[in-house]
Amino acid sequence: MDITQLLFPNELQTPQYWEEKYPKRDLEETQSVTRFAPSPTGSIHIGNLFSALIAERIAHSSDGIFYLRIEDTDKKREVEGGAEYIIKALENFSVKFDEGYAHGGEYGSYKQSERVEIYHSFAKYLLEKGLAYPCFCTAEELDELRSQQEKQGELFYGYFGKWTKCRNLSEKEIEDNIKTGKPWVLRLRSDKIGIPNEWKDGIKGKIKLTPNEQDIVLLKTDGIPTYHFAHAVDDHLMRTTHVVRGEEWLSSLPIHIQLFKALEFTPPQYCHIPTIMKSENGNKRKLSKRKDPEASLKFYEIEGYPYGAVIEYLLTIINSAFEPWRKKNPTAHYNEFPFNPKNIGNAGALFDVIKLNDVSKDYISKLSAEDVTNYVLKWAEEYNLDYYNVLTKDIEYTEKVFEIAYKSARPRKDFATFSETKDVYSYFYEDIPLQISDITKKYAEIYNHTDTKEIWYEKIKELAEQFGYASDNKAFKANPEQYKGNIGNFVAILRTAITGRENSPDLYDIMQILGEKKVIERLKDERKT
Ligand code: GLU
Repeated sequence: MDITQLLFPNELQTPQYWEEKYPKRDLEETQSVTRFAPSPTGSIHIGNLFSALIAERIAHSSDGIFYLRIEDTDKKREVEGGAEYIIKALENFSVKFDEGYAHGGEYGSYKQSERVEIYHSFAKYLLEKGLAYPCFCTAEELDELRSQQEKQGELFYGYFGKWTKCRNLSEKEIEDNIKTGKPWVLRLRSDKIGIPNEWKDGIKGKIKLTPNEQDIVLLKTDGIPTYHFAHAVDDHLMRTTHVVRGEEWLSSLPIHIQLFKALEFTPPQYCHIPTIMKSENGNKRKLSKRKDPEASLKFYEIEGYPYGAVIEYLLTIINSAFEPWRKKNPTAHYNEFPFNPKNIGNAGALFDVIKLNDVSKDYISKLSAEDVTNYVLKWAEEYNLDYYNVLTKDIEYTEKVFEIAYKSARPRKDFATFSETKDVYSYFYEDIPLQISDITKKYAEIYNHTDTKEIWYEKIKELAEQFGYASDNKAFKANPEQYKGNIGNFVAILRTAITGRENSPDLYDIMQILGEKKVIERLKDERKT
């Protein structure tokens, strides 16, 4: 009996059928097709965003296509709604797909579990070509194989060379095994497919390839493909031009090149992106989901980072040309940055929250006061309802508070996250510890809430003189020993009494917003206890 028929008894389309069903895309050479291919695990890591962003930029900066494929061949890792969660998370970060799972398109299904028939067509084809074979080894036999390999001091373990027990089974043996219902996997005949010893990666440049000698599994006992096999079939049929993925896949590259060759597909341009690292006590280590909250995208949501700022920061660490470009184009959208994968650093990308905060402060300072108010309200409504209630008690007041940082010619960079506003502007909403002195009491007496800024400042200067501070900086510089301090030191006393902080936006503006009652209260302690 025909072995192929025994292994694949159901009617299958030919590879040619699929080639015609998913023809070459009608695009120019220069237009790239990339994808994001997560497993629907329901969690998304900053590294996933990193690769999605690079893939998206490569596609869209070439006017190409960016699509979403759900790699759900490992049912153990799947969680309900996992794919939807990932889509939502990426949408929040404005990483948008043109086609794919939940987006439609001509190259679907974009969910691997719905493509089994396609994988089987190609698996059968490899079998017919003598490039694949069924393997009936049980888990126990494979364990035994490994202990033999250990005993014999093999450098590598696995299913290769002389250890490939099922590589040369006779047709009769295969037939008997199948007839007795033995489960089987389909393996690649790695010894029949040579590969070049060098490869050009889109990011890493020239790399050495170590030939793969492992007869890796293509189809598991349940007929579901492994990542390796599904990747080759899907990226070919979906006409992916650039496979952007983490460098942890680099060691599997020889297998993938072998598979493309066995299947007679042209390999895509692989772009292996650096792992995100963190510096700790002078050493670099991988950003860890377990140890580092910033590894999870949830962190950015909970802290209230503007999503655009996180993207800007990732672009900064991905691409050395981004920061100089940003300096020259302070107001341009990051999508206008001419993205070139060649400029992606080869070494591990270093993630640093301090730098992220700087980028974020800068980003927020370029938003309008109105946008910031809306973002803060939206964030608070979801993550800090008490704060939301405080902010919305008098929305006009809150709008004025958030305008304050934007009134000066150079916007202030007071906060990196929306959650920080609660602390940074707390003096507008909460009582502060009183810091009353003779100076503040005296000032309360002359304070007139309707004074213009000029008169307000004149009065402060006069009072400063009365208390032995220089109202004129030149005079102070000439004879510092004659004064208790300069006008800045004097204002600092008032600022601390009114805001509880040494640093704040314009004090006059703050006092105007706080209102006369609160100002006087903080200067004179007229609080009712
Ligand atoms: N499903 C793989 C993963 O989640 C995707 C790797 C790739 O992009 O090819 O790691």
